[in-house]
Amino acid sequence: MSKKLLIPILGDQLSHDLSSLQDQDPENTVLLMMEVAEETNYVRQHKAKIAYILSAMRHHAAALRERGWHVDYVKLNDPGNSGSFTGEIARATQRHNIDSIRVTEAGEWRIMEMIENWEDQFGLPVTICPDTRFVATHQDFEDWAEGKKQLRMEFFYREMRRKTKILLDEDAKPEGGKWNYDSENRKPAQRDLLMPQPIRFRSDNITKDVIDLVGAHFAGHPGSLDHFYFAVTHDEAMRQKRKFLDDALPQFGDYQDAMLTGEPFLWHSILSPYINSGLLDPLALCREVEQRYHDGDVPLNAAEGFIRQIIGWREYVRGIYWREGPDYAHRNFLSADRKLPDFYYTGKTDMHCMAQAIGQTLDMAYAHHIQRLMITGNFALIAGIDPHQVHQWYLEVYADAYEWVELPNTLGMSQFSDGGIIASKPYASSGNYINKMSDYCSECRFDVKQRTGPDACPFNALYWDFLDRNKDKLGDNNRLAMPYRTWDKMDENTQRDIRDSAATFLNHL
Ligand code: FAD
Ligand code: SF4
Repeated sequence: MSKKLLIPILGDQLSHDLSSLQDQDPENTVLLMMEVAEETNYVRQHKAKIAYILSAMRHHAAALRERGWHVDYVKLNDPGNSGSFTGEIARATQRHNIDSIRVTEAGEWRIMEMIENWEDQFGLPVTICPDTRFVATHQDFEDWAEGKKQLRMEFFYREMRRKTKILLDEDAKPEGGKWNYDSENRKPAQRDLLMPQPIRFRSDNITKDVIDLVGAHFAGHPGSLDHFYFAVTHDEAMRQKRKFLDDALPQFGDYQDAMLTGEPFLWHSILSPYINSGLLDPLALCREVEQRYHDGDVPLNAAEGFIRQIIGWREYVRGIYWREGPDYAHRNFLSADRKLPDFYYTGKTDMHCMAQAIGQTLDMAYAHHIQRLMITGNFALIAGIDPHQVHQWYLEVYADAYEWVELPNTLGMSQFSDGGIIASKPYASSGNYINKMSDYCSECRFDVKQRTGPDACPFNALYWDFLDRNKDKLGDNNRLAMPYRTWDKMDENTQRDIRDSAATFLNHL
């Protein structure tokens, strides 16, 4: 009798060319897909995020069956569902009389540690395949990081450009003469009737079932299901990708950092949920963007800016996540310990910028990078919120959030809790930056020009108070020399007013 192989497919492994499937014979293989409570509940995930993942999984199972695979699919409310990956694999090995297991490595420590135990637990050989959907292997990142004092994304990104040969000319020099065009990508946006909008996909019966299931089982989780708009199949994700390439990419660079009231998406791609769960291939996407540049459809600053986010930032944060180890999640360089304010779960705050970023997050499980970094992240940083609570919030509320990508972005880039491994200085700012890059302040009850007092923009006093509070840890950071000089030049009364204003605000949080 031929040997029976079990291939578990995890919720973020929805790719037809997944490494565990390569060169396997569908005849003697069972693919196992599992909806388990352990994953939906390990943090209180946004309802729309759960609905997106479950619907995409169910559609992917159907697509795999069409390609001839035997898929055993365990639904969340199936009788006997044990609620855990390990429990479901145990049941499936019995059900199908399995001889061996083959799985693509998981994206995070928690699940990887689980997988590494399976061989002993089940007494079966387990092959763990590398995840080939990334440009850099774990070894590539280690080789690059070896012996370096600082692990700056920019230099890693250049390696990835060389490895993929994307946007390089015949002499292997960067297209246009420069590696990075970020300085051209900081324009504030004007409201424009022709602003691109992502496709809002209509729910089919599978998605409707899932939405009902999530509504019934996860009523206490944050977020709304009323605005569900996600692509849930490979074809739909491809349609959203084409829409982005045609309509938004040409101005992606210019307005990458801009924010406008009532406009959640602007010129962003809204593709991260599909890239991270496997519906879209990141490298193929970058090659299409490069082609659009060569065809003269998009300017270099847009193409390079977009490609840098994917083969630069995305690959880099993954490298940091695995290099720093499970302990990374517990770092707290600035010893911040304030509780996360409740308005992160309601959006009810007079700070218009925060209400906008949080409101759209709860409605749509989406905010773009600058909203995550310079609004909600910046506020948590300068208010001294416990970074573990901040990390948990980001992991819960965004449809694209998986620990390997969310944790370094939140804990490292946004909260500076790793002491500067990712960011050379904290992304802290006063209301001035927000006013420059958005129209939020004109609709806010606070006055962005005032530094202290009940009507002053809270970001202003909090920013200076943050620098003052953390002087022992940040005072020798060269990149903060200028703001520290400005703080030192303020007279004592001004400094005292700022401290008092910040304290009054924080006491009322
Ligand atoms: P676009 O602006 O269109 O960018 C294109 C693509 O580049 C994205 O789809 C994404 O795949 C990639 N990308 C861009 N920036 C980053 C980055 N810093 N790290 C990794 N990939 C990047 N991204 C996630 O995918 N999951 C997360 O959980 C996540 N958490 C974040 C938390 C914080 C505090 C911050 C500051 C950033 C976080 N990011 C996260 C990065 C970034 O905000 C999102 O990738 C982006 O907003 C997704 O929207 P988009 O697809 O419209 O992106
Ligand atoms: Fe945000 Fe301050 Fe501007 Fe209000 S005034 S929107 S709180 S930055």
